[in-house]
Amino acid sequence: MIHLGLIGYPLGHSLSPRIHSAALRACGLAGDYSLFPIQPDDKKGLEDLLTRVCSREITGLNVTIPHKQNIIPLLDILTETAEAIGAVNTIYLRNHRLIGDNTDAPGFLADLRKFLAEFPSPVRAGQSRSVEEGVGVKKKQALVLGAGGSARAIVYALLKDGWIVILAARRIEQAQQLAYSFGNYELSITDNNLSNIDLSHIALIVNATPVGMSLNTDRSPWPENLSFPRHAAIYDLVYNPRETKLMIDAQAQGLSAITGLGMLMEQAALAFELWTGKQVSREILFPAVEGS
Ligand code: NAP
Repeated sequence: MIHLGLIGYPLGHSLSPRIHSAALRACGLAGDYSLFPIQPDDKKGLEDLLTRVCSREITGLNVTIPHKQNIIPLLDILTETAEAIGAVNTIYLRNHRLIGDNTDAPGFLADLRKFLAEFPSPVRAGQSRSVEEGVGVKKKQALVLGAGGSARAIVYALLKDGWIVILAARRIEQAQQLAYSFGNYELSITDNNLSNIDLSHIALIVNATPVGMSLNTDRSPWPENLSFPRHAAIYDLVYNPRETKLMIDAQAQGLSAITGLGMLMEQAALAFELWTGKQVSREILFPAVEGS
């Protein structure tokens, strides 16, 4: 019997139980996925759950806000990705040691690649090879909005994939802190006055702020009076609602745009594989959250 779960607080609207229950069913595995609401300062609550992973009573855990960082000292080893991002979203046991991993970054990149392959732009196609492929290849330029937890994973994924990243945040000191962690890469920061940025070479805009989420669906992180860069693709991490104002506005200007449900599925499927060794088709997972 496989026991999985999510640590966070609050957890009321999480889609993870539905996604992972669908994955268990699809793989013919008996098991469950529970929610473990642990208050922000409840270290004992975190330790008790990790003890249950060590005893193999719990097979694996996801971690979300507010514990993605503060669980790190309680783990034995971080993967290279989790270490670089400074946040853990997946925990499992290997050789009697508690491993902290982060599937947000590879999950985002997997979904981004599908999206860009599905909607290639002539300009992006010319820019789309990674720097590793050779000297003289023009690098891709991405603008990331927001410098919070998810932005760390997105920026890491993009930089590793060879993008030049501009990070725009309303609190410049938050962007500075993030940039400090990735000092060896091509990353510049700016405040969120986007009209001051040269947007002409931007091939991708990623919204890593909650602006446009349900209850605020009439809002967009992109200023009303500013045109989108002509050849940019828009990736909005927000997935509730399924079509955000940012996505709708960008599409109205003829741009390709997508919201973050695909990333949610990818990061979940990658975590599921780490826990069970089973690959699950992403297409099987989407119906699990329909109507949510
Ligand atoms: P977070 O850690 O709270 O960071 C949010 C960032 O957005 C911060 O830099 C914050 O700045 C900024 N921000 C908030 N409100 C803003 C506003 N009105 N104008 C400008 N900037 C604003 O949140 P997160 O975990 O990164 O999540 C961000 C969004 O991504 C959420 O909607 C979340 O649901 C979504 N997400 C999706 C996935 C997926 O799988 N698709 C995964 C992770 C997150 P301050 O610190 O100044 O408030």
